[in-house]
Amino acid sequence: MSKYPDPSSRSAQLFERAKHVFPDGSTRRTVTFDPYPLYAVSGRGCMVMDADGVERIDFINNYSSMIHGHSHPKIVAALAQQAGKLMAVGMPTESDIDLAELLVARLPTVEHVQFCNSGTEAVMLAVKAARAYTDRPRVARVEGAYHGAYDFENVMLPCNDVERALQLLEANKAELAGIIFDPIIGRLGFAELTPAYIRALRSWTRDNNKLLIVDEVFSLRIDYHGAQARYKVEADLTALGKIIGGGIPIGALGGRKEIMAVFGDGSAHPKLHHHGTYNANPLAMTAGKVSMEMLTADEIARINALGERLVQGIAKILKDADAPAKAQGVGSMVAIAPINTPFTDRVHREMLNRGVLMMARITTDSQKREQRLKEARDFFIQCFARD
Ligand code: PMP
Repeated sequence: MSKYPDPSSRSAQLFERAKHVFPDGSTRRTVTFDPYPLYAVSGRGCMVMDADGVERIDFINNYSSMIHGHSHPKIVAALAQQAGKLMAVGMPTESDIDLAELLVARLPTVEHVQFCNSGTEAVMLAVKAARAYTDRPRVARVEGAYHGAYDFENVMLPCNDVERALQLLEANKAELAGIIFDPIIGRLGFAELTPAYIRALRSWTRDNNKLLIVDEVFSLRIDYHGAQARYKVEADLTALGKIIGGGIPIGALGGRKEIMAVFGDGSAHPKLHHHGTYNANPLAMTAGKVSMEMLTADEIARINALGERLVQGIAKILKDADAPAKAQGVGSMVAIAPINTPFTDRVHREMLNRGVLMMARITTDSQKREQRLKEARDFFIQCFARD
């Protein structure tokens, strides 16, 4: 196996080419790391092969979207059949209704759906819907959480600090359309919001006629009925993406009919018009339906148990090595979190050289990086340093 980094590797050469056409050689920051990213050529099941022919176990699975692994035969067959019939068309198709019905059946808080093309768009639609519904401009969000690439006017709430969050909500009440949160925060190593915090945000929104948006773009995979079932929270709006497209780009917003009526209320002039050349694209609808049907309650339980086994295994290794880090996560979502030490590339790099592909450390642009690392570090210290 060629050792990473290797300036003579094909991946290193591809990165040199990429620098001529992309700023810093990147068109997707999350998959770019120093000194050069590995370029993928093919995948099968849990394995992915890079441009130098090295195969690794893929623990990223395209940030959750490939929940059944790469090139699952049933999804490939359904896609091939659909591609032969229709790839995109300026008409609705039955497949739109099929996938929407599946989502409505699985998520009790979702009565109506609007499809889009990414989690970012789903969050954007949620924010637009909340603004239109309440006629207020801002949406509060929880510090440390990622909700995609769309920038919206917000109020930042401290994570899991009920008292301070409520103070900030009260102080900004007049401007707020609602609150968005992700119950399992990926960027904080799949840290959970506490039940008390979730309850407080739900009560406050209800008492003040604001909307509660649950971002389930990532967390939907945790339970057959989504994270909102696991954390017993009733969402007004739910942002969806990733797994519901079976690996093909997708996003969706779901919610109660009465709120989703901002997109259509029987009148000629609803508050919002939802457009998009690729909305409800037949390839995404088809792959999504096959994929979600395979993701049964038993399958979710199976992969959650695998995740728990992984946490225990890593925890033992870290303990035996007396390493300043923790294995943590929820079900099938697992992270290694440093304690009292800065994040470094070392674990990521060593794992690459041992046949394992995992998410690189949390990086944004270089100015923000140090601040984000400090915040994340403080958070982990707060959570784990005591035990
Ligand atoms: N919300 C959450 C919680 C996410 O994890 C992500 C993607 N990692 C997004 C939104 C954005 O989704 P996308 O990358 O499909 O735009």
